[in-house]
Amino acid sequence: MTTYNAPVEDMMFLFDNLKDNKEYKEIDKFKEINSDLVKDILVQAAKINQDIVHPLAKAGDDNPCVYENGIVRSPPGYKEAYNKFINDGWTSLSCDPKYGGQGMPKTVSTFFEEMLSSASLSFKLYSELSIGAYNCILHHADEKIKEKFLPKIVEGKWSGTMCLTESQCGTDLGLIKTKAIKNSDGSFSLTGQKIFITSGDHDLTENIIHLVLAKVPGSPHGTKGISLFLVPKFNVNENGSVGSRNGVSTLSIETKMGIKGSPTCVLNFDNAKGFLIGKENKGLSSMFTMMNLERIIVGIQGLGIAETAYQNSLAYCKERKQGKSNDNTNNETDLIIKHADIRRSLMTMKSLIEGQRSLAFWLSQQVDVSLNHSNEKIKKEADDMVSLMTPVVKSFFSDMGMEITNEAIQVFGGYGYTRDQGIEQLYRDNRITPIYEGTNSVQAIDLVFRKVLSNKILDKFVNLIRNEINNNKDNPELKNFSDILEKKIITLLNFAKYLEQKLKIQKDDVSAACNDFLKVLGYVSLGFSWLKMTKISFKNSNKNKDFYNEKINTAKYFFDKIFPRVDSHYQSAITGSESIMKAKFH
Ligand SMILES: Cc1cc2nc3c(=O)[nH]c(=O)nc-3n(C[C@H](O)[C@H](O)[C@H](O)COP(=O)(O)OP(=O)(O)OC[C@H]3O[C@@H](n4cnc5c(N)ncnc54)[C@H](O)[C@@H]3O)c2cc1C
Repeated sequence: MTTYNAPVEDMMFLFDNLKDNKEYKEIDKFKEINSDLVKDILVQAAKINQDIVHPLAKAGDDNPCVYENGIVRSPPGYKEAYNKFINDGWTSLSCDPKYGGQGMPKTVSTFFEEMLSSASLSFKLYSELSIGAYNCILHHADEKIKEKFLPKIVEGKWSGTMCLTESQCGTDLGLIKTKAIKNSDGSFSLTGQKIFITSGDHDLTENIIHLVLAKVPGSPHGTKGISLFLVPKFNVNENGSVGSRNGVSTLSIETKMGIKGSPTCVLNFDNAKGFLIGKENKGLSSMFTMMNLERIIVGIQGLGIAETAYQNSLAYCKERKQGKSNDNTNNETDLIIKHADIRRSLMTMKSLIEGQRSLAFWLSQQVDVSLNHSNEKIKKEADDMVSLMTPVVKSFFSDMGMEITNEAIQVFGGYGYTRDQGIEQLYRDNRITPIYEGTNSVQAIDLVFRKVLSNKILDKFVNLIRNEINNNKDNPELKNFSDILEKKIITLLNFAKYLEQKLKIQKDDVSAACNDFLKVLGYVSLGFSWLKMTKISFKNSNKNKDFYNEKINTAKYFFDKIFPRVDSHYQSAITGSESIMKAKFH
């Protein structure tokens, strides 16, 4: 079984030193959230994740969810842990105090999301979609629905789901067939089947609130005719108590490669009573409120699982002895941590993980500003950044999660491939993250066509990085890092120019390059994060020498060994799509 120790020191390093968004500091309600309070929260969060949640990862893998006679049972131990989890208030961390939440900013809750992902993704998924449903209801439902449903969701007594997928409709939501017929009392009756629904049914909560995409007869064709409905598993009485069973039933659960402790359900809606959320035919944009925040969290899942993979690899390298290192003098077998190639593996993991954590912290500040700042223009500018970086964080972090869990298996050798050490489970559990919430390829297409080619958000992001470089141009310690970062920015901009030109003459060249472009932007964003961390580390290096010198060395590794990947992605992309589109695939 794996072990997990929450990286509280690294998280506090970010919180204390890298709240560098001045607009974030202007948000009144977060001014009280100081370092001592955050440290307290993180220490408590570490405790529940290490002691209570982490053992559930293996328990859920060994004893997956069971479906019997129409009922879904969670793995052993999940119910008790969930009760403690909600009694301690963890579902309410970032929710509005008006509905019983604790009102913490995303800068804090994102650390918690990472810890929970590291501890057990399966367990996390029971409450994760609840927060997605909370956000969607909060932003789009009328006050009556908010008052009826939100307090119970915030408390964790009721959970939430997101019901988009149908057997004929995954990425292409325009193909949805589930129908919603209006009743005389203003409610709707929903009929249809949804598949792959995470936490679609289980025994942890007294009710489940489904957010369902469906079509009202006569609505426009495709995605323009989709509406969003709230459909509870049990009807809710006027006084807020749980009433009769609604027309939603579970037909089966999936047998899966990973996240076996999380039920992935086929749900049947048979004249199920539902309530319209937002406007008719505008359901997709309302659902996007849920999906966009959710996509960032999927990226954080990749980061969290990668952290567990790294920690366990590091521990293993310090106990496993094989071969002799180059500086061996006593002719005895060495620990594998002495081998340069193993150290390269560990440094690849470490430099990606710490860079991503820092980028996620920066993005959390943008999300907080986009949701809470008093000035609409500032809110919109932050929202632009969030919109640019959401597909990057979702795809890049989940893909890096695959690379890092794969490296971890390699570090463990045969013991990584076999089950006992729990390392192969990390790879299997992470494998869903590049797929759900919109596949990574589709995220890359969205990034290029909607965010880079059709508006100027990329320029704004590049300006931010260049400001950081310029502000430090007289700092000799940072010169080498800044020079490399500037070169990579030039490659990024050349890449964007190439895409713009190709869009007019050969669209397939653009489509074939989207994944490479997303990677380039991902690495440049990490370079930006590493430059800022390096600056702080040089400044503070006489305080906590070991911590800051290690940061500087890891930055050097990132700039020397990881950053050249940018050029390889770019060079590959600009060869175009001829061979790709010419292939006959006999
Ligand atoms: C464990 C699990 C949990 C899930 N949880 C939920 C949930 O809670 N709620 C929910 O609604 N759904 C859920 N899903 C569904 C998930 O979101 C979909 O599987 C995903 O969106 C992809 O859809 P698909 O599987 O139908 O693949 P498809 O859409 O059929 O895609 C197949 C392949 O084609 C590619 N592709 C598709 N369109 C394009 C295009 N235009 N250009 C280029 N390439 C393209 C894709 O990238 C992919 O590689 C879950 C799935 C799983 C496995």
